Amino acid sequence: MTDRTQVGVIGAGPAGMLLAVLLRRAGVDCVVLERRDREYISHRARGATVEHRVVQLLRRHGLADNLLRTGAVEDAVEFRLGGRRYPVRYEPLAAGRSHYIYPQQFLVRDLVEAYLGDGGDLRFETAAAGIVDLTGQPRIQLADGGELRCDVVVGCDGEYGVARGAVPAGALRGTGYQYDYAWLSVLADAPPSSDCVINALHESGACVHVRRTPTVSRFYLQCARTETAADWPDERIWKEIGIRLALDEPWTLHTGPISATGTVRMRSLVCEPMRYGSLFLAGDAAHIVPPVGGKGFNLALADAQELALGLIDRFTAGDDRRLDGYSAARLARVWRAQEFVHWMMNLVNTPGYGTADAPFRHRVQAARLARLVDSPAYLAAFLEDYVGW
Ligand SMILES: Cc1cc2nc3c(=O)[nH]c(=O)nc-3n(C[C@H](O)[C@H](O)[C@H](O)COP(=O)(O)OP(=O)(O)OC[C@H]3O[C@@H](n4cnc5c(N)ncnc54)[C@H](O)[C@@H]3O)c2cc1C
Repeated sequence: MTDRTQVGVIGAGPAGMLLAVLLRRAGVDCVVLERRDREYISHRARGATVEHRVVQLLRRHGLADNLLRTGAVEDAVEFRLGGRRYPVRYEPLAAGRSHYIYPQQFLVRDLVEAYLGDGGDLRFETAAAGIVDLTGQPRIQLADGGELRCDVVVGCDGEYGVARGAVPAGALRGTGYQYDYAWLSVLADAPPSSDCVINALHESGACVHVRRTPTVSRFYLQCARTETAADWPDERIWKEIGIRLALDEPWTLHTGPISATGTVRMRSLVCEPMRYGSLFLAGDAAHIVPPVGGKGFNLALADAQELALGLIDRFTAGDDRRLDGYSAARLARVWRAQEFVHWMMNLVNTPGYGTADAPFRHRVQAARLARLVDSPAYLAAFLEDYVGW
């Protein structure tokens, strides 16, 4: 087992695996450390909305075959309010772009297969416990007592990983925002009730419906931050989904056994810069967005691509210019996504729930939706960010 590599990657999520595949194919030596086993990461259900440009990127590298074969094209989004539907088709304003619906865990599984098929070194059930000597010759300390010496370490270890915490206090600035509500996430063995995302604005709180596969659906219900999954028995979930998605016209909500529920903290965070010495951060390790708008997974993959290009220049041509620009280049995109997601959070979620301001703020929310539907210019700006610029 190698205890030395050029690039030590912590985390085999979307960011870590895409980075590893691209580095390996360019001849850059790397080792991926993943604390979970292969079975676990191949079944961990999270996002599923893949942007057009990410599909193009995967396609260029021959990594999109399964996605294109089994994923579903999505070219519309629907809003609901007051029993009415407000469908928004991407064309003619989206310049030929669309989304693909392909569960994140399927893409991780494809990337793991590609990397191992190329002879890549991926160590499952190997947790990083810390990183030392970040401004010299960094070493990843393993939970089992071993060490991996690296030229560069990339923290792709998600929201709760160890990489960010290895940076000395004060060297990174974390700018965050906490919303005053949460979302209950619900995964159900039920066929999708719509062939596009539904965002329902409702006085009781938002309800979002996203298809996953022909037999699995995801729902989100806005709820209080103090609530937990235990407060939401299955009957309450289906009743509330029915109320919030209700239409004044015939429509069928497909129900089925609920396979998983959980509460999602609705928060945003950006760590700047996305580098300290020889440590680089990518994906959720560097920035977090709430799930509305489907940006987290796509940002993670875009970080991986940019970082791969910089690392390939360094290790194959001795050229550090792209790598040195990584943080600034990605932060510009990350902040743009943060702005869009914050706007969309305020469009979809019922603000000030339970406060005296709530009726006014709900009317403003409704006026924003009316503007989106009525104004082609406003709609074009929305689609530019929603579908991916
Ligand atoms: C319920 C939910 C729904 C979501 N829906 C969407 C959506 O619709 N669209 C969208 O774009 N995004 C969505 N997201 C966000 C998206 O899932 C994340 O942005 C994405 O997973 C980030 O990828 P990543 O590779 O940066 O991190 P992760 O996917 O978190 O991967 C990190 C990896 O690092 C491993 N790891 C952690 N610590 C260590 C350690 N110490 N040592 C070794 N390995 C470690 C973890 O096991 C994991 O495999 C959703 C997230 C959640 C939670």
